[in-house]
Amino acid sequence: MDVVTGSVQNYAWGSTTVIADFLGVEPDGRPQAELWFGAHPMAPSRVGPVSLPALIEADPTRVVGADSVARFGPRLPYLLKVLAAAQPLSLQAHPTRAGAEIGFAREEAAGIDRAAPHRLYRDDWPKPEMLVALDDVEALCGFREPGRTYDLFARLGVPAALELVAPLRSGRSEELAAVFARMLGLDQGERAVVAQVVAAASALVESDGSSDEPALIRFARTAVELDTYHPGDPGVLAGLLMNRLSFGRFEGLYLPARNLHAYLSGTGVEIMANSDNVMRGGLTPKHIDVAELVSVLDFTPGVPDLVEVVAEGPGIWRYETPAPEFAMWRVDLLPGADGPITLPGWGSGRMVLVVEGSVQVSDGASTLALQRGAVAYGYPDETLKVTGSGIVMVAAPGVPVTSPDE
Ligand SMILES: [Zn+2]
Repeated sequence: MDVVTGSVQNYAWGSTTVIADFLGVEPDGRPQAELWFGAHPMAPSRVGPVSLPALIEADPTRVVGADSVARFGPRLPYLLKVLAAAQPLSLQAHPTRAGAEIGFAREEAAGIDRAAPHRLYRDDWPKPEMLVALDDVEALCGFREPGRTYDLFARLGVPAALELVAPLRSGRSEELAAVFARMLGLDQGERAVVAQVVAAASALVESDGSSDEPALIRFARTAVELDTYHPGDPGVLAGLLMNRLSFGRFEGLYLPARNLHAYLSGTGVEIMANSDNVMRGGLTPKHIDVAELVSVLDFTPGVPDLVEVVAEGPGIWRYETPAPEFAMWRVDLLPGADGPITLPGWGSGRMVLVVEGSVQVSDGASTLALQRGAVAYGYPDETLKVTGSGIVMVAAPGVPVTSPDE
């Protein structure tokens, strides 16, 4: 067992205080969007004094586990993050495994530098992801039923916008792709419609005294909020085609390949396959490729369910997702609870992140005292037991759970 040192990503949408507060340090004045724990080449963590990728390269089976190496190769298949959004993130989606392999091969053959801003497929992996909220999270996720979207636009009463969404009136989901691409493809001369929609939405939000139409007000608020950070961006209109979700502490949202999403605000623990393949359509200064985004998206409308959380033992909760690359549990140590809890994930290299309180994690030979924000790395052959008072999240490769023969 070793202590993991993560690295902060200073993306512009990050909160300037939340991650510093989580770690119990003074803010440095810059936005801190994400804190990464993993072996991704863009920001590899240190485990003890050594970089995690170097440690894995030297002996992948000892560090990540035999089952994981057999299934995913000599690498850490997951990436763990703490995410703190003060502003909306870009409208984005991630490819399937097959799509990533094809896209990566194509861009390699074309000789596009892997670090180039316009490079879309930086590796040949999918990037399913899950966010477990630490406070209230607001997100846009997937497409609303098209007929319902048409009705909401109709209530805004902006003729140019209604013309854009006219094909949705039929309620046919086949029309969503064309409307979405048309919105994101508006040229400079056509973009006045964004300001018109935002003005109408803003008037609706302000006139809301005792509205009996909360869905309409949420729709209008979304337009106003997106435009605050990205004024005039056609992504404001595209965002209005999407479901808006709110979820709370320790609820999880799973985003499969091909799902369109954008977190709006909130803090959470995120786990994903160890990939950096992102197709963006708007609401960002980063590279946008609408055609590629449209080609990967699933336009099937519907509101996604939150992740099912299953009790696996006293204080142990498993977040059930279909992602093969990762597994995640929450372990609650209530004050006065009896005895240590044995952490799940034996047989794999797992990370134990303290999200509340302070705990002691023991591997039988040594014990680490960990405060909120700290991460311990447990090696596959170690049985980890935790005591104290707090809550930890455990991340591991998505392999069948085994037990030590003891
Ligand atoms: Zn994403």
